[in-house]
Amino acid sequence: MEYIIFLTKKQRNFGRNIVEKSSMVYNSFGGGKDRRVSVKRQKQKQRAWLVLLSVIAVWSLILLRQQQESRYALAMEEQARGAEADRPEEGSQEEIREAASGKEGLSEDTGEELPDGRCLVIPKNGQNPEEVILKEDELHNKLELKMSGVYFPEAQKYAAEKWIEEILQELEGAGSLIEGVEPFYDWKTKTFSVSIFLDHLYVPFLYEDESCYYIVLKRPREVYERILVIDAGHGGKHPGTMSSDKAYAEKDINLAVTLALKELLDAREDIKVYYTRLSDDSVYLRPRVTLANEAEADFFISIHSNAFWDKKAHGTEVLYKAEGIASGEAAVSGAAFNETAVSREGITSRQLADICLEEVTKVLQTDARGIWEDEDTYILKHSQVPAALIEVAFLTNRDDLELLCQKEGQALAAKGIYEAILRAYGEEERKIAE
Ligand SMILES: [Zn+2]
Repeated sequence: MEYIIFLTKKQRNFGRNIVEKSSMVYNSFGGGKDRRVSVKRQKQKQRAWLVLLSVIAVWSLILLRQQQESRYALAMEEQARGAEADRPEEGSQEEIREAASGKEGLSEDTGEELPDGRCLVIPKNGQNPEEVILKEDELHNKLELKMSGVYFPEAQKYAAEKWIEEILQELEGAGSLIEGVEPFYDWKTKTFSVSIFLDHLYVPFLYEDESCYYIVLKRPREVYERILVIDAGHGGKHPGTMSSDKAYAEKDINLAVTLALKELLDAREDIKVYYTRLSDDSVYLRPRVTLANEAEADFFISIHSNAFWDKKAHGTEVLYKAEGIASGEAAVSGAAFNETAVSREGITSRQLADICLEEVTKVLQTDARGIWEDEDTYILKHSQVPAALIEVAFLTNRDDLELLCQKEGQALAAKGIYEAILRAYGEEERKIAE
């Protein structure tokens, strides 16, 4: 073990006083041989004092440190014992549910009965974090519980490891809900985070009591009435098509329109919207369509921009999922939950495409090129919910590009899609009521 010696102000002053006093003695001796001898003696004396002081300082530091550590270890043990006593019996789902429902929630309690078995328990191990955040990565069915302000001294590494073990053990009990757990303590930021990879998309609700955190998992359809998935095409290392002069990439325009649409949708509390991306991220096709299936979305709308070698080509077109393919495509995740979504008596992909084309061209004032049944586009083919891919306009056409690359044009495109969504909901609900 290494110790750096820091003398307190008092200790430093004490040392200085002694040196000063010695030099006063030295001055009173006068000059000559005696003076050299006395200087030497004084120096020896000073050195002896300093050595003595250092030894005392080191000893007191060692003692202090030992005392602190044993006190900390005791406190940890005591807290751990307390936590053990408070905890609901292991394996008793009833009690865990009771604990989860009866506690003051970190997030809003919807007041409904908790679904069976879908509750993750994360023991606090006697810790009392300053801040707790539950982050959701909906595209990858991942949750991250971040607890900041959790202090472990360097010498107590085993305490952090013990906690990690305890969490792993507890979450193992959640069975098939969980596909992986990564607990991690960051010594620098004093943040303890637990990443949990789930088997499906859930809406998490976080609760706590003195000994544990409880994450109650509900399926989106158990929570939301209207669910929408919006997909900004391409992104990151996939630029999509380009304008003729290569100055504009499709991915950026798609994102700009999506962000403008998000502004409009954010004001609607009656529609839960999942976005496949809200920044310049590389997102593969599979997680995009899986999100739509997992969410059991009412509509899956993908936003794109078009390109063609003939620069005269312009206007809006909408691709839609070929009918009759949905039920056969169970390979993509989410199938188990989607029987109801597929059979929901709503509008079809074709009707959705029609509505999108009409509303977008009406607001954006572009030419309607038509709607096309598409059997090949991956996200359409694998969608188990009504899906439409809007090619808003052509990047390769001068007039279209002017619309697409300016904020006003992007806002109009977003407004058109927004109107289409509202109309689609209206028509769907009318159909269901019939
Ligand atoms: Zn595209």
